[in-house]
Amino acid sequence: MVVGAGGLGRGRFHYNEPGQKTKISWPLLKRVAKYFKPYWKLLILLALSIIITSVLGLLPAIFTKNIIDTALPQKNTGLLFILIASSFGAVLLSGFVTVGQNYLNSWIAKYIIYDMRNSMFDHLQNMGIGFFSNVKSGEITSLMNNDIGGIENIFSSTFVQILHNVLIFTVTAITMFYTNWKLALVSMVILPLFIIPTRKVGKVRWHLASQTQEKLADLNNLIYETLSISGTMLVKIFTSEKHQLEKFKNINKDATKLQIKESLAGRWFFMAVSTVVAIGPMIIYLFGGLILIRYSDITVGSIVMFVALLSRLYGPVASFANISVDITRSMALFERIFNYFEMKKEIRNKPGAFKLKNVKGFIKFSNVYFSYNEKMQTLKNINLEAKPGQITAFVGPSGSGKTTITYLVPRFYDVKSGAVTIDGYDLRDVTIKSLRKQIGVVTQDTYLLNDSIRNNLLFAKPEATEEELFSVCRNANIYDLIDSLPEGFETIVGDRGIKLSGGEKQRISIARVLLKNPQIVILDEATSALDSVSESLIQSAIKPLLKGRTSLVIAHRLSTVMAADSIYVVKKGRIIEQGTNEELLLLNGEYKSLYDKQFKNDKNNLELG
Ligand code: ADP
Repeated sequence: MVVGAGGLGRGRFHYNEPGQKTKISWPLLKRVAKYFKPYWKLLILLALSIIITSVLGLLPAIFTKNIIDTALPQKNTGLLFILIASSFGAVLLSGFVTVGQNYLNSWIAKYIIYDMRNSMFDHLQNMGIGFFSNVKSGEITSLMNNDIGGIENIFSSTFVQILHNVLIFTVTAITMFYTNWKLALVSMVILPLFIIPTRKVGKVRWHLASQTQEKLADLNNLIYETLSISGTMLVKIFTSEKHQLEKFKNINKDATKLQIKESLAGRWFFMAVSTVVAIGPMIIYLFGGLILIRYSDITVGSIVMFVALLSRLYGPVASFANISVDITRSMALFERIFNYFEMKKEIRNKPGAFKLKNVKGFIKFSNVYFSYNEKMQTLKNINLEAKPGQITAFVGPSGSGKTTITYLVPRFYDVKSGAVTIDGYDLRDVTIKSLRKQIGVVTQDTYLLNDSIRNNLLFAKPEATEEELFSVCRNANIYDLIDSLPEGFETIVGDRGIKLSGGEKQRISIARVLLKNPQIVILDEATSALDSVSESLIQSAIKPLLKGRTSLVIAHRLSTVMAADSIYVVKKGRIIEQGTNEELLLLNGEYKSLYDKQFKNDKNNLELG
């Protein structure tokens, strides 16, 4: 069984080479057991049903022995019918029990997956922004679908199968030894003949299958990169269709060749195995016959029964040949999932954290240093103040650290040293929830849920009344647009709904923040130029957004810097100048040159400001 070979996720599939060892440790087993524990009663029922089917599976062979040894020599028609009917009954009953077993099996597996998906969702949802900025695209989807979904296979194909095989092997071997130990020994000697091709071809096929899956993953990546909206734009603009096609053909060819090799290896495997399967009865008849002729301590019925029983051993023995690989692979899957569970939330409530109440919104940064990683210090010695009812603007070249400064306020990240305070309280001393309740954020690329406009708005305040909804939409200049849509507030937006322009989306997100009505607002102004109508709509939507709150604005518009009560000029992670527009222009420094480059030609906004 190939773990994580869903083939749909964009993430790279994970493979464990045969022989690659995940350490199977007690703590790991205990963690796995924890997920099975709630279902222990059902697991016992499952084990019982497996015992029953293992024993029932033996009966037809035993009845055959009795038919040959007793019913036929005695010409006992009654007994013959009884034995045949009993065989049929055993097969039928086994069939019924197997149906129940499969149901139980998939029920337990699905509910373990259900539990695990829920806890993983809960866990990941609480991870910090840092975690999400580091995961590869498709990694989480692959984890949720392929890895966690793979548990069903692990459970059904490995755990249950191992138990099944061990039981079948045990009851069959006991019956054989009980009937005739000499012939039983001969049967045991035949079995390794079966293991050798299984192991050998199994390994080759495994390697080929892994390589094929790698190639298919590459193919999927290429399909995603080329045949998606952003990808196709890139390809078209660089007219690299031919190059992409060549690349695709090459990978496609490799994958095809590997798949052909894999199916050829499969044919060899089949041939080797069927030869051994065919030889098995011959050897039993030979040795059974010799024992009967020499020692007369075996019956014809027993020899025929041995042939039937031998065939029951092939399946278990073949699976034992790969048991260590199967267990290792299963444990590796669990380990991979647990690794995510082990990732600690970077941002947590400290013990004794208190709720931030009656917030005025006086924000202060004192000697703040921050870095995303060891390589680079992103913010250096930041000191600033943002007062309630005032607009505090940040300007500076791209990459200078403006966004990072605003990230520290809702504690998307924590400072490395220094402190950020609100009304004098260190952010790390208050609960995250009470802090974030006070803050509204409007970013450049507004994210709307694939849901109705109403639900997108209610995300901020589920209990909002119709009047409140209308009022915030009017204030955000989006009411008329919503009203003009045939389905009004029920219109679905996002991927599966209507496409709104950047400006419209931003106004919806402004309405959403207005509904939340926070004391502090962070606004990252759009850098892209909008037409003058959209611009004026946004500008007048921004006024109620910022009014009476502490506003931190990453400013790209002349109107904003002119309206700002205080402007901080950020460069290479430091604040290098501070003042109002007029004060900073008089300084004739960094701000002045930025102003000349960025804001001077912003006539559109000058009129509006
Ligand atoms: P600005 O908003 O002024 O354009 P940012 O605050 O976004 O600047 O970025 C400041 C610096 O931090 C940049 O060098 C950027 O590459 C880096 N940076 C931003 N986000 C991350 C992140 N998640 N991980 C690592 N570095 C980051």
